[in-house]
Amino acid sequence: MTLLETENLSKSFDGLKALNNVNITVDRNALTLVMGPNGSGKSTFINAVSGFLKVDSGKVLFEGNDITNKEPNEIYDYGIVRTFQNPVPLKSMTVLENILVSEKHVGEGILNSMFRSKWMKQEEEMVEKAFKILEFLKLDHRWDHPSKSLSGGQMKLLEIGRALMTNPKLIVMDEPIAGVAPGLAHDIFGHVLELKKRGISFLIVEHRLDIIMQYIDNLYVMFNGSVIAHGRGRKEIEDVLNDPKVVEVYIGD
Ligand code: ADP
Ligand code: MG
Repeated sequence: MTLLETENLSKSFDGLKALNNVNITVDRNALTLVMGPNGSGKSTFINAVSGFLKVDSGKVLFEGNDITNKEPNEIYDYGIVRTFQNPVPLKSMTVLENILVSEKHVGEGILNSMFRSKWMKQEEEMVEKAFKILEFLKLDHRWDHPSKSLSGGQMKLLEIGRALMTNPKLIVMDEPIAGVAPGLAHDIFGHVLELKKRGISFLIVEHRLDIIMQYIDNLYVMFNGSVIAHGRGRKEIEDVLNDPKVVEVYIGD
């Protein structure tokens, strides 16, 4: 079933077509991978879908709602959250604090602050939720350490943890395992698989196909701003990888 789809999404930078009528469908409860050589338009696509970049034409539909060119915070309210290529947690804060700041602050409303006991309860629930997420990511033993003490791979897990605090339907990730050692990269995708089972969908851009191929359900290949091949399911994905058009753009990379 379709969760998100784009219709002829287009974006130019000074005449250069970074996105040229891109039609991509993200299925519910699936991992959709967008791959392609450098400069294909992958990050532009992700930025457009998550509201960080305005497109020139075309549409983004999420659960049937037109979310084209909405602001990132509105898109986030629909249940789409993106993580960043270089995680940006506030480094002097602890791991737990980093998870907590990603959640909208429930105690901030005037009405809520008038009911202090309710507010306290909500704070407690948030901390409990944060701990559950840290436990799931196996970061709970580091909860009171400064996040700058985490390894690169743990930092990526923390970034996923921050996303989970928002109860997302779709997590969008740009190169989540760039610079991560293979063992830890598989660990990160083990968590992704587990989250998929719990009903979260993923839209991911990644270069390291050797590692990620076994985890994906849908594959799109982009080149020069256009989708040049796509496949859903094992058989079609293998066909895409053997498609001469795809092989050629990778050899030329
Ligand atoms: P990828 O993520 O696949 O490597 P990008 O989406 O980052 O590719 O870039 C696609 C094309 O758009 C590239 O030619 C890039 O130089 C250009 N581009 C991306 N962002 C900008 C921008 N903010 N201003 C001008 N050109 C950009
Ligand atoms: Mg990129």
